[in-house]
Amino acid sequence: MTTAPAPKTGSGTATGPDTADGTDGRLPIAEPSQVRRAALRLIGLDRRAFAAMLALNALAAAAGLVGPWLLGRVINAVGAGEGVGAVDRYALVILVFALVQLVLARYARRIGHRFGERTSARVREQFVDRALALPASVVERAGTGDLAARGTADVTSVGTALRDAAPEVFVAAVEALFILGAVFFLEPLLGVCGVLALIGIRFATRWYLRRARTAYLDEGAANSALAEVLAASATGARTVEALGLRQRRLVACQEAIERCRRTRTRTLALRTVLLPSVDVSYALPPVAVLLLGGALHAHGAMNLGTVVASALYLRQLSTPLDTVLLWVEQLQSSGASFARVEGLAGSPRPPQDASPAPAGDRIEVTGARYAYDGGADVLRGVDLTVRPGERLALVGPSGAGKSTLGKLLAGVEAPGAGTVTVGGVPIAGLAPDLLREHVVLVTQEHHVFLGSVRDNLLIAAPHADDAELHAALAAVGAEWAAELPDGLDTDLGADGNRPDGARSQQLALARVVLADPHTLVLDEATALLDPTAARHTERALAAVLDGRTVISIAHRLHTAHDADRVAVLDEGRLTELGTHDELVADGGAYAALWHSWRGEPTDGSRSGPPA
Ligand code: ADP
Repeated sequence: MTTAPAPKTGSGTATGPDTADGTDGRLPIAEPSQVRRAALRLIGLDRRAFAAMLALNALAAAAGLVGPWLLGRVINAVGAGEGVGAVDRYALVILVFALVQLVLARYARRIGHRFGERTSARVREQFVDRALALPASVVERAGTGDLAARGTADVTSVGTALRDAAPEVFVAAVEALFILGAVFFLEPLLGVCGVLALIGIRFATRWYLRRARTAYLDEGAANSALAEVLAASATGARTVEALGLRQRRLVACQEAIERCRRTRTRTLALRTVLLPSVDVSYALPPVAVLLLGGALHAHGAMNLGTVVASALYLRQLSTPLDTVLLWVEQLQSSGASFARVEGLAGSPRPPQDASPAPAGDRIEVTGARYAYDGGADVLRGVDLTVRPGERLALVGPSGAGKSTLGKLLAGVEAPGAGTVTVGGVPIAGLAPDLLREHVVLVTQEHHVFLGSVRDNLLIAAPHADDAELHAALAAVGAEWAAELPDGLDTDLGADGNRPDGARSQQLALARVVLADPHTLVLDEATALLDPTAARHTERALAAVLDGRTVISIAHRLHTAHDADRVAVLDEGRLTELGTHDELVADGGAYAALWHSWRGEPTDGSRSGPPA
């Protein structure tokens, strides 16, 4: 079978060569053995309910066997000339056992469904914990679409399997085993004959199972890729519009949809082979038993009751087998979903205990290289030391790699080669809460999380008290927060209280105050705001920046002028480094930029303001 092409996505999802962490950037998928271990672990966590389900199902299946066996006895009794009274007694016992089976099966299912609900809740909680523990660089490379698809469709599919499919399959499997056991007990020869006649089902399911896992994994990956493309198109709609990329995004969406269609057609095609073959296979065992049993009865070697009871049992077998096979399809797709959900456990994560805490605040960049999506290097060997407490401005033409270097400095990305460390420890490898204490990236993208003002702030400092939260809000000039109807408990998702861009930014800055990192990387933190809001935010920023190491990606050269040192990036390389005065005196690229920005005549090769 050909493997589906790698998802073509607009941004974020890395499909290129291996990154420094040894993956291709996508979130991993668990191996079947890991999925099995995870399933056993989940069963172990609720083993009493599981054992109760097992016991009740076994009892229900045993009760279900009584009916056909007694029918065989009825036939023999009638054959032996016994009266209506005997038949009535048998019929009454059959009825009682049918009722007993009904009640036991009901309780078994109830326990099974509760077990499934509890277990699927555990899977969800575990997924959220693992997703939150992922390093920012992993999420950035994998793309949020994949994470979102795993957290929604895949987790739901696992939940359905645990709540419905697993208990149903389990009930049916026990029932089928008991039925077959009963035929063997009645007459081993007929049992062998029935099992042999079942062989068609085995071939059909083997054929199916061999192909199903890959097919469903492909389908899951295609759905993730589509979610990724759609999410990227929606969030980047303004950029798409501005740069006239509509046609390209449309093509990317169409390709993703086409891949979804192709993978779905493949899984449907597998079912169109499986289901009809199975239907035909059901008819075979009772027919075979009737033929063989009939011949033996004709020769006086077997009584008629045994033949009829065995044929009835085998006919009855189709119900549990049908259930198993119907759900096998669901279990295959859920198994693939579980592999994707469980895969998060195997994604690169900072070794929280093993990773040493940074010794000091000094940031060192050594030979750092970085490429997006397997493209060319956009950073091509950067060496830079950021001294604690200094203000460093990164300048350079658009596309020089300033934002990319900012992401490496903030641990959002890990370098493809070389190192970026704080206090001697790789920044991108720090656990999220440790990272937050050291370096924070402030951009123009400010997310307001659903929840209250308090929820939005506690993300940065889970143990902060109300006084600290108020102080942080005051520090960034968010006086409006005090006037909200329910204070810190005001729900920011609710109509009317949703903060606008400037307020969202203040909330983000208040989070920075609470996280209290020693280093801030500012990338276009105020670029999209109107001048009033920008002034407001800059005042707020001053409170946040006080005493910190500040690395600003300078879009206005006055930032560079005011900085302690200026680093000039050009085509992914650090070309100049020094104070503003030194660089202007040197008469290099920075001097040219500076003169051109000031509208002064320049003999440098460069002109125009920086990006
Ligand atoms: P600057 O901040 O100096 O303008 P960037 O670091 O944003 O430069 O970009 C450097 C190069 O990397 C550019 O060629 C840009 O097109 C590319 N680039 C930036 N972000 C991405 C991304 N998410 N995916 C692919 N390429 C990117």
